[in-house]
Amino acid sequence: MADHIAGLAQEAVSQHLTDRQRREIEAQKRTIADYAALEEQRRTLFDRASSTARIGIWQCNLSDNSLIWTNGVYDLFEIPRNSAVTRELTLTLYTEKSRREMEAARSKAVADCTDFSVDCEIITTTGKRRWMRITGAVESRDGVAHRIFGMKQDITEEKLTADRIRYLAEFDVMTGLANRSLFQARLMRLDEGRESIGTMLLIDLDGFKQVNDTYGHALGDECLKEAAQRLVASCGGAELVARIGGDEFAVLLGADVSAAESEALAAHIVSMIGRPFVRGDHRLTLGASVGVAQYRGGSSESLFQQADIALYAAKAAGRSTSRTFAADAAGSHEDSGHPQRKTGRL
Ligand code: GH3
Ligand code: MG
Repeated sequence: MADHIAGLAQEAVSQHLTDRQRREIEAQKRTIADYAALEEQRRTLFDRASSTARIGIWQCNLSDNSLIWTNGVYDLFEIPRNSAVTRELTLTLYTEKSRREMEAARSKAVADCTDFSVDCEIITTTGKRRWMRITGAVESRDGVAHRIFGMKQDITEEKLTADRIRYLAEFDVMTGLANRSLFQARLMRLDEGRESIGTMLLIDLDGFKQVNDTYGHALGDECLKEAAQRLVASCGGAELVARIGGDEFAVLLGADVSAAESEALAAHIVSMIGRPFVRGDHRLTLGASVGVAQYRGGSSESLFQQADIALYAAKAAGRSTSRTFAADAAGSHEDSGHPQRKTGRL
């Protein structure tokens, strides 16, 4: 374009143009130079902004799967910029699960000629695990998709932060078990008919205040961690193992676990937590009482109350033992003025 204008200018000179015409041609040349400079500025600005936002633009031609990437996408996968890339090579950098999810979202978008968005985990060419958000738009002609293009954004930090927040909201940091919130969420799902729970076990350590008083809170914490580990080791197939209070834990078993198996598990938990262990200079022995209640419909709150009554019965029977709530004796339990335990109701 510039050459063309230059040619025109030359021609104009040779034709003895007026001063006014020459000025116009010079102005046009400046406009073109300004436009080129503006384009360059725009490109630099885009490169910088997309690099800061960790964004890259991609396009895939559906007739031959050929790809066009901006630098941001190369950087995301840690593939040298401007090198030849194929879709096949790129797919090998996705984790199996993410590849399946991305392919499903992409195929649906192509079939329906719609947009899509999916978060995927990749392993870069240097082995780094990253999360990226892919957004894509399908371009079609006469209802047939022929091109997909969109954006890939590195969301690794955002994802890790979100995972951490979810972990803190749902798990007990000290023991790593589910916390009371997650336990309650599962019970809410049970009330909504979206859980298949057969049994609830409530476990409370025996005489734990004394452990704190004798050995101090720090060693008390070690004991809670040890009890949690043993509980997890004992309840391999459980739906949930949670710490729902200071020294109180809960286990939810699936509907396929029989009453006899639940009771056997309760006895096993008592025996496992009762095994001595050594911490520093101390040989310690914990004890636990367990209350068991079978779910027979009704509300999760009443299931919790029944397990709590059974736990209280185990404590009353001398501790380090388990008891199962007897449904047919429910009336007598209620009538006997069963005291509320200090942990309260859900
Ligand atoms: P019981 O046999 O009737 O269960 O009595 P207990 O001494 O075990 O005491 P209880 O279950 O009533 O109370 C639990 C105690 O656990 C209260 C508190 O001293 C202790 N505790 C609660 N949370 C923590 C914690 O995070 N760390 C430690 N070290 N101790 C805790
Ligand atoms: Mg206790």
